[in-house]
Amino acid sequence: MEKNYDLHDYVEMKKPHACGANHWEIIRMGADIKIRCDKCNHIVLMSRRDFEKKLKKVKAKESE
Ligand SMILES: [Zn+2]
Repeated sequence: MEKNYDLHDYVEMKKPHACGANHWEIIRMGADIKIRCDKCNHIVLMSRRDFEKKLKKVKAKESE
């Protein structure tokens, strides 16, 4: 599975958010990763290791 991700990419996680959506935007990349739920704007901060464990797939980029 392709797991190349970058800032502002949209990703799908193994578990959808509590609001029912499963469409997150990466809004910070570092030792920790911050993702924002596209539907309710909830922000989740997790370590890069956790993120990669929970990541299901990286969605196609809007522009490329
Ligand atoms: Zn949400």
